[in-house]
Amino acid sequence: MSRRIALLGSTGSIGESTLQVIRHHPERLRIEALAALGSKLDRLEQQVREFRPRLVAVRDPLRATELQDRLGKETKVVSGEGGLLQAARLDSVDLVVAAVVGAAGLPATYAALEAGKDVALANKESLVVAGRLLKEVARATGAQLLPIDSEHVALHQSLRSGHSTEVHRLMLTASGGPFRTRDITTWSEIGPEEALRHPTWKMGAKISIDSATLMNKGLELIEAHHLFEVPPDRIEVVIHPQSIVHSLVEYRDGSWLAQMSVNDMIFPIQYALSYPDRWENEFERLEPHQLGRLEFEPVDSQRFPSVDLARETLAMGDSAPAVLNAANEVAVHAFLEGQIPFPAIVSAAERVLGSHDPGPINSLDDALQYDAWGRQRARELLKL
Ligand code: MG
Repeated sequence: MSRRIALLGSTGSIGESTLQVIRHHPERLRIEALAALGSKLDRLEQQVREFRPRLVAVRDPLRATELQDRLGKETKVVSGEGGLLQAARLDSVDLVVAAVVGAAGLPATYAALEAGKDVALANKESLVVAGRLLKEVARATGAQLLPIDSEHVALHQSLRSGHSTEVHRLMLTASGGPFRTRDITTWSEIGPEEALRHPTWKMGAKISIDSATLMNKGLELIEAHHLFEVPPDRIEVVIHPQSIVHSLVEYRDGSWLAQMSVNDMIFPIQYALSYPDRWENEFERLEPHQLGRLEFEPVDSQRFPSVDLARETLAMGDSAPAVLNAANEVAVHAFLEGQIPFPAIVSAAERVLGSHDPGPINSLDDALQYDAWGRQRARELLKL
């Protein structure tokens, strides 16, 4: 029987890679619903014609009407936040691929888990904002929460070699982004175009900027803490410029278990969609003689304070990671719009956290309120 999928965020980078994996396994995977919140209506129409989902969700009601006219009656087109939630909860769906960017994806991730759907999560921000809550909901409904993030897929695989009580530490690898060696006194001159040019991964705009500031690794540290229930002081980050070792686990006997593959998101996505099985594929493979050197170096926390900042938020309380994420999203957007310089992204997040009084997150509403507070405070501080 094939696994029936709702793909939320289908026209983004992860969405397209997910469809690539599904194209390779038509007998095992079927698209039931597609949701795209952005403006690529033509691309979405092509996807619908190729994969024939029952339900399609878009953000804007006018676009929904236009798309419904183009597609005819076979596919139902819905819109707004309600439409996205409808796709996440659709009865005929077994697995939701959550690939919406940012905290905007949280309500749909929550809805899917609450409805007992397994979730393959690319939307790391929803775990950063409400990790404890999402894990509780998943536990209550028996839904499985699997990562798509390549580092976490690497950890998930490496953790299958031992018991959780045997884990000494997790090591998340980071490429270091485009500014790993750039003179820090010139960082105020960095423009969006340069920051978007990632050395090893091809990704969407938001995560590319997060990779340039290393905030992505800070968010991933929080994500790993929730997914694997490992305390933050046992999660480290190491720079690995080649992006071949996707992360590793050190066990208490000193053994390291690492996972490697070509750096293409189709590998972690297929892992999440096929788990607990492993499927054959014809994707490009690593060849040892082509790898050359694999290098590792510590994170320079003067240059990249975001990893320590993220670790600190976990000690502050539930709402602090949510506020960190909100401030970062606002600052990244402002940087991409040319409104603030590159170094102001992380300093904005620091300043917003400095004025935050943390509290618990016990409901989706709590999470959304802290998210809104963080955004508002960031806009004030950045004078946006
Ligand atoms: Mg990652």
